[in-house]
Amino acid sequence: MKFSRQTTLRSQATVTGVGVHSGLPVSLTVGPASVDAGFIFVRTGLDDADREVPAVAGSVIATDLATVLGDREGPLVSTAEHVLAALRGMGVDNAVIEIDGPEVPIMDGSASAFVAAIDQAGIVTQSAARRYIQVLKPVQVVIGDSFGELRPHAAGFRAEVEIDFANPVIGRQNFALDLNPESFRREVSRARTFGCMNDVARLWSAGFALGASFENSVVFDETRLLNTEGLRFRDECARHKVLDVVGDLALAGLPLLGAYRSVRGGHKLNHAVLTALLADRSAWRVVEPESARRSRGHAEAGAGMVGGMIAPAYGPDVS
Ligand SMILES: [Zn+2]
Repeated sequence: MKFSRQTTLRSQATVTGVGVHSGLPVSLTVGPASVDAGFIFVRTGLDDADREVPAVAGSVIATDLATVLGDREGPLVSTAEHVLAALRGMGVDNAVIEIDGPEVPIMDGSASAFVAAIDQAGIVTQSAARRYIQVLKPVQVVIGDSFGELRPHAAGFRAEVEIDFANPVIGRQNFALDLNPESFRREVSRARTFGCMNDVARLWSAGFALGASFENSVVFDETRLLNTEGLRFRDECARHKVLDVVGDLALAGLPLLGAYRSVRGGHKLNHAVLTALLADRSAWRVVEPESARRSRGHAEAGAGMVGGMIAPAYGPDVS
Protein backbone atom coordinates (compact mmCIF):
# COMPACT_ATOMS: atom_id res chain seq x y z
CA MET A 1 0.00 0.00 0.00
CA LYS A 2 1.19 3.48 -0.85
CA PHE A 3 0.00 6.33 1.36
CA SER A 4 -0.33 10.08 0.99
CA ARG A 5 1.82 12.19 3.23
CA GLN A 6 0.57 14.49 5.97
CA THR A 7 0.07 18.15 5.13
CA THR A 8 0.08 21.43 6.96
CA LEU A 9 -0.19 25.10 6.03
CA ARG A 10 2.79 26.86 4.49
CA SER A 11 2.16 30.15 6.34
CA GLN A 12 -0.45 31.92 8.43
CA ALA A 13 -3.67 33.52 7.22
CA THR A 14 -6.16 35.54 9.24
CA VAL A 15 -9.91 36.06 9.01
CA THR A 16 -11.90 38.52 11.12
CA GLY A 17 -15.61 38.63 11.80
CA VAL A 18 -18.16 38.21 14.60
CA GLY A 19 -19.34 35.20 16.59
CA VAL A 20 -22.86 34.12 15.59
CA HIS A 21 -23.98 33.56 19.19
CA SER A 22 -21.97 36.20 21.07
CA GLY A 23 -22.05 38.88 18.37
CA LEU A 24 -18.49 39.72 19.51
CA PRO A 25 -15.72 40.66 17.05
CA VAL A 26 -13.06 37.97 16.73
CA SER A 27 -9.92 37.32 14.74
CA LEU A 28 -8.87 33.79 13.75
CA THR A 29 -5.48 32.80 12.32
CA VAL A 30 -4.72 29.41 10.80
CA GLY A 31 -1.09 28.37 10.53
CA PRO A 32 1.42 25.51 10.34
CA ALA A 33 1.71 22.69 12.89
CA SER A 34 4.14 19.79 13.25
CA VAL A 35 3.63 16.23 12.03
CA ASP A 36 0.96 14.35 14.04
CA ALA A 37 -0.21 17.56 15.77
CA GLY A 38 -3.70 17.41 14.29
CA PHE A 39 -5.79 20.55 14.73
CA ILE A 40 -5.02 22.62 17.82
CA PHE A 41 -6.95 25.71 18.89
CA VAL A 42 -4.95 28.33 20.78
CA ARG A 43 -7.14 30.78 22.65
CA THR A 44 -5.38 34.12 22.97
CA GLY A 45 -6.56 37.41 24.47
CA LEU A 46 -7.28 35.92 27.89
CA ASP A 47 -6.25 37.62 31.14
CA ASP A 48 -3.82 34.77 31.89
CA ALA A 49 -1.63 32.79 29.50
CA ASP A 50 -2.87 31.52 26.14
CA ARG A 51 -4.65 28.18 26.39
CA GLU A 52 -4.47 25.28 23.95
CA VAL A 53 -7.30 22.91 23.26
CA PRO A 54 -6.83 20.01 20.85
CA ALA A 55 -9.67 19.57 18.36
CA VAL A 56 -10.57 16.04 19.45
CA ALA A 57 -13.78 14.39 20.63
CA GLY A 58 -12.60 14.48 24.26
CA SER A 59 -12.48 18.29 24.19
CA VAL A 60 -16.18 18.64 23.32
CA ILE A 61 -18.13 20.16 26.21
CA ALA A 62 -21.38 21.18 24.47
CA THR A 63 -23.22 20.41 21.23
CA ASP A 64 -26.57 22.14 21.69
CA LEU A 65 -26.38 24.97 19.16
CA ALA A 66 -22.82 24.52 17.93
CA THR A 67 -19.82 22.35 18.74
CA VAL A 68 -18.03 23.86 21.76
CA LEU A 69 -14.52 22.80 22.82
CA GLY A 70 -12.97 23.43 26.20
CA ASP A 71 -11.19 21.95 29.16
CA ARG A 72 -11.85 21.37 32.85
CA GLU A 73 -12.00 25.11 33.46
CA GLY A 74 -14.79 25.62 30.95
CA PRO A 75 -15.51 26.52 27.33
CA LEU A 76 -12.70 27.96 25.18
CA VAL A 77 -13.84 27.83 21.56
CA SER A 78 -17.43 27.78 20.36
CA THR A 79 -18.72 27.03 16.86
CA ALA A 80 -15.56 25.11 15.96
CA GLU A 81 -17.20 23.11 13.16
CA HIS A 82 -16.90 25.31 10.06
CA VAL A 83 -13.16 26.04 10.29
CA LEU A 84 -12.51 22.37 11.14
CA ALA A 85 -14.60 21.34 8.12
CA ALA A 86 -12.50 23.59 5.88
CA LEU A 87 -9.22 22.15 7.18
CA ARG A 88 -10.33 18.51 6.93
CA GLY A 89 -12.22 19.09 3.71
CA MET A 90 -9.25 20.73 1.99
CA GLY A 91 -6.96 17.87 3.03
CA VAL A 92 -4.98 19.62 5.77
CA ASP A 93 -3.82 17.26 8.54
CA ASN A 94 -2.03 19.53 10.97
CA ALA A 95 -2.80 23.16 11.83
CA VAL A 96 -2.79 25.64 14.67
CA ILE A 97 -5.93 27.77 14.87
CA GLU A 98 -5.38 30.88 16.98
CA ILE A 99 -8.47 32.71 18.12
CA ASP A 100 -8.67 35.86 20.24
CA GLY A 101 -12.27 35.47 21.41
CA PRO A 102 -14.67 32.76 22.63
CA GLU A 103 -16.23 31.95 19.28
CA VAL A 104 -15.03 31.23 15.74
CA PRO A 105 -16.24 34.05 13.46
CA ILE A 106 -19.34 33.04 11.51
CA MET A 107 -18.28 34.97 8.37
CA ASP A 108 -20.97 34.32 5.72
CA GLY A 109 -22.28 31.24 7.57
CA SER A 110 -20.36 28.81 5.36
CA ALA A 111 -16.74 27.58 5.21
CA SER A 112 -15.84 29.88 2.27
CA ALA A 113 -13.72 32.34 4.25
CA PHE A 114 -11.75 29.50 5.85
CA VAL A 115 -11.16 27.83 2.48
CA ALA A 116 -9.92 31.20 1.18
CA ALA A 117 -7.59 31.49 4.19
CA ILE A 118 -6.22 27.98 3.51
CA ASP A 119 -5.71 28.93 -0.16
CA GLN A 120 -3.89 32.07 0.93
CA ALA A 121 -1.67 30.22 3.44
CA GLY A 122 -0.91 27.37 1.00
CA ILE A 123 -0.68 23.65 1.74
CA VAL A 124 2.65 21.80 2.04
CA THR A 125 3.42 18.12 2.49
CA GLN A 126 5.30 16.87 5.55
CA SER A 127 7.70 14.00 6.07
CA ALA A 128 5.35 11.48 7.68
CA ALA A 129 2.68 9.40 5.98
CA ARG A 130 -0.92 10.33 6.63
CA ARG A 131 -2.65 8.09 9.14
CA TYR A 132 -6.37 7.30 9.05
CA ILE A 133 -9.03 5.91 11.34
CA GLN A 134 -10.60 3.07 9.41
CA VAL A 135 -14.13 2.07 10.40
CA LEU A 136 -14.23 -1.74 10.73
CA LYS A 137 -17.88 -2.35 11.63
CA PRO A 138 -21.08 -0.30 11.76
CA VAL A 139 -21.77 1.83 14.83
CA GLN A 140 -25.26 3.28 15.17
CA VAL A 141 -26.83 5.85 17.48
CA VAL A 142 -30.47 6.86 17.87
CA ILE A 143 -31.36 10.09 19.68
CA GLY A 144 -35.12 10.73 19.65
CA ASP A 145 -36.10 10.68 15.97
CA SER A 146 -32.50 11.21 14.79
CA PHE A 147 -30.39 8.35 13.50
CA GLY A 148 -26.66 8.30 12.84
CA GLU A 149 -24.28 5.62 11.65
CA LEU A 150 -20.63 5.16 10.75
CA ARG A 151 -19.94 2.09 8.65
CA PRO A 152 -17.04 0.60 6.68
CA HIS A 153 -16.58 2.06 3.21
CA ALA A 154 -14.43 0.89 0.33
CA ALA A 155 -12.48 4.10 -0.29
CA GLY A 156 -12.06 7.41 1.51
CA PHE A 157 -14.83 9.14 3.43
CA ARG A 158 -18.45 9.53 2.37
CA ALA A 159 -21.16 11.57 4.12
CA GLU A 160 -24.87 10.96 3.50
CA VAL A 161 -27.31 13.37 5.12
CA GLU A 162 -31.09 13.38 5.15
CA ILE A 163 -33.03 16.22 6.75
CA ASP A 164 -36.76 16.38 7.33
CA PHE A 165 -38.02 19.68 8.69
CA ALA A 166 -41.61 20.41 9.68
CA ASN A 167 -41.08 23.79 8.00
CA PRO A 168 -42.45 23.10 4.49
CA VAL A 169 -40.01 25.47 2.79
CA ILE A 170 -37.07 23.32 3.99
CA GLY A 171 -38.92 19.99 4.09
CA ARG A 172 -37.07 16.81 3.11
CA GLN A 173 -33.65 17.02 1.49
CA ASN A 174 -30.83 14.53 0.85
CA PHE A 175 -27.24 15.16 0.03
CA ALA A 176 -24.27 12.80 -0.23
CA LEU A 177 -20.61 13.69 -0.69
CA ASP A 178 -17.55 11.58 -1.44
CA LEU A 179 -15.03 13.80 0.27
CA ASN A 180 -11.96 15.19 -1.46
CA PRO A 181 -10.66 18.74 -1.64
CA GLU A 182 -12.33 19.43 -4.98
CA SER A 183 -15.74 18.03 -3.99
CA PHE A 184 -15.60 19.81 -0.65
CA ARG A 185 -14.81 23.16 -2.23
CA ARG A 186 -17.37 22.83 -5.01
CA GLU A 187 -20.28 21.03 -3.37
CA VAL A 188 -20.46 22.04 0.29
CA SER A 189 -17.96 24.72 1.35
CA ARG A 190 -20.29 27.57 0.27
CA ALA A 191 -23.45 26.19 1.89
CA ARG A 192 -24.59 28.51 4.68
CA THR A 193 -25.95 28.09 8.20
CA PHE A 194 -29.73 28.10 8.18
CA GLY A 195 -32.60 28.48 10.59
CA CYS A 196 -36.29 29.19 10.96
CA MET A 197 -37.42 32.67 11.98
CA ASN A 198 -39.35 31.32 15.00
CA ASP A 199 -36.20 29.62 16.29
CA VAL A 200 -34.03 32.68 15.67
CA ALA A 201 -36.50 34.85 17.62
CA ARG A 202 -36.49 32.32 20.47
CA LEU A 203 -32.66 32.22 20.46
CA TRP A 204 -32.46 36.01 20.53
CA SER A 205 -34.72 36.22 23.57
CA ALA A 206 -32.49 33.60 25.30
CA GLY A 207 -29.38 35.66 24.54
CA PHE A 208 -28.09 33.47 21.68
CA ALA A 209 -27.63 34.12 17.97
CA LEU A 210 -26.87 37.76 18.78
CA GLY A 211 -24.57 37.96 15.75
CA ALA A 212 -27.02 36.21 13.41
CA SER A 213 -28.15 38.20 10.39
CA PHE A 214 -29.08 37.72 6.75
CA GLU A 215 -25.37 38.25 6.01
CA ASN A 216 -24.48 34.96 7.75
CA SER A 217 -27.63 32.84 7.89
CA VAL A 218 -30.27 31.53 5.55
CA VAL A 219 -33.56 32.20 7.32
CA PHE A 220 -36.99 30.80 6.50
CA ASP A 221 -40.42 31.57 7.83
CA GLU A 222 -43.27 29.10 7.36
CA THR A 223 -43.95 30.12 3.80
CA ARG A 224 -40.75 31.42 2.22
CA LEU A 225 -37.06 32.17 2.28
CA LEU A 226 -36.49 35.59 3.87
CA ASN A 227 -33.04 36.30 2.37
CA THR A 228 -33.53 38.52 -0.64
CA GLU A 229 -30.44 37.15 -2.44
CA GLY A 230 -31.91 33.63 -2.61
CA LEU A 231 -30.21 30.27 -2.09
CA ARG A 232 -26.75 29.24 -3.34
CA PHE A 233 -28.03 25.71 -3.97
CA ARG A 234 -31.58 24.37 -4.14
CA ASP A 235 -30.61 21.93 -1.35
CA GLU A 236 -28.31 24.34 0.50
CA CYS A 237 -29.60 23.19 3.93
CA ALA A 238 -28.69 19.53 3.37
CA ARG A 239 -25.32 20.58 1.95
CA HIS A 240 -24.66 22.69 5.06
CA LYS A 241 -25.44 19.65 7.21
CA VAL A 242 -22.77 17.73 5.27
CA LEU A 243 -20.36 20.60 5.94
CA ASP A 244 -21.15 20.32 9.66
CA VAL A 245 -20.58 16.53 9.50
CA VAL A 246 -17.12 17.03 7.99
CA GLY A 247 -16.28 19.53 10.75
CA ASP A 248 -17.73 17.54 13.63
CA LEU A 249 -16.07 14.30 12.52
CA ALA A 250 -12.73 16.11 12.17
CA LEU A 251 -12.75 15.70 15.95
CA ALA A 252 -11.81 12.04 15.36
CA GLY A 253 -8.30 13.53 15.28
CA LEU A 254 -7.42 11.74 12.02
CA PRO A 255 -9.23 11.50 8.68
CA LEU A 256 -11.83 8.73 8.65
CA LEU A 257 -12.01 5.90 6.17
CA GLY A 258 -15.70 5.08 6.32
CA ALA A 259 -19.19 6.28 5.48
CA TYR A 260 -21.34 8.40 7.76
CA ARG A 261 -25.10 8.60 7.44
CA SER A 262 -27.39 10.85 9.42
CA VAL A 263 -31.14 11.29 9.40
CA ARG A 264 -32.51 14.45 11.08
CA GLY A 265 -29.07 14.88 12.62
CA GLY A 266 -27.04 17.71 14.05
CA HIS A 267 -23.96 18.40 16.13
CA LYS A 268 -25.21 16.32 19.07
CA LEU A 269 -25.81 13.25 16.90
CA ASN A 270 -22.51 13.64 15.03
CA HIS A 271 -20.62 13.80 18.30
CA ALA A 272 -22.54 10.85 19.77
CA VAL A 273 -21.77 8.62 16.78
CA LEU A 274 -18.08 9.56 16.78
CA THR A 275 -17.87 8.97 20.54
CA ALA A 276 -19.61 5.59 20.17
CA LEU A 277 -17.16 4.57 17.44
CA LEU A 278 -14.08 5.60 19.41
CA ALA A 279 -15.39 3.86 22.55
CA ASP A 280 -15.57 0.49 20.75
CA ARG A 281 -11.98 -0.58 20.13
CA SER A 282 -13.15 -3.40 17.85
CA ALA A 283 -14.95 -0.93 15.55
CA TRP A 284 -11.89 0.93 14.21
CA ARG A 285 -8.17 0.84 13.75
CA VAL A 286 -5.50 3.35 12.87
CA VAL A 287 -4.11 2.60 9.43
CA GLU A 288 -0.45 3.45 9.46
CA PRO A 289 2.20 1.99 7.19
CA GLU A 290 5.48 0.64 8.62
CA SER A 291 7.47 3.33 6.83
CA ALA A 292 5.49 6.08 8.60
CA ARG A 293 6.32 4.66 12.01
CA ARG A 294 10.02 4.49 11.14
CA SER A 295 10.15 8.10 9.92
CA ARG A 296 8.25 9.48 12.91
CA GLY A 297 10.20 12.09 14.82
CA HIS A 298 12.29 13.18 11.86
CA ALA A 299 12.33 16.84 10.92
CA GLU A 300 9.32 17.68 8.79
CA ALA A 301 10.84 20.14 6.36
CA GLY A 302 13.26 19.28 3.57
CA ALA A 303 13.16 15.85 2.03
CA GLY A 304 9.43 15.48 2.62
CA MET A 305 8.51 18.57 0.67
CA VAL A 306 7.44 17.93 -2.90
CA GLY A 307 7.30 21.14 -4.86
CA GLY A 308 5.38 23.08 -2.26
CA MET A 309 1.71 23.24 -3.29
CA ILE A 310 -0.05 19.95 -3.69
CA ALA A 311 -3.49 18.66 -4.39
CA PRO A 312 -3.83 16.20 -1.52
CA ALA A 313 -5.15 12.77 -2.43
CA TYR A 314 -7.82 11.58 -0.08
CA GLY A 315 -7.82 7.86 0.50
CA PRO A 316 -4.75 5.66 0.55
CA ASP A 317 -3.57 4.73 -2.94
CA VAL A 318 -3.74 0.98 -3.25
CA SER A 319 -1.00 -0.33 -5.46
ZN1 LIG B 1 -22.96 24.69 10.59
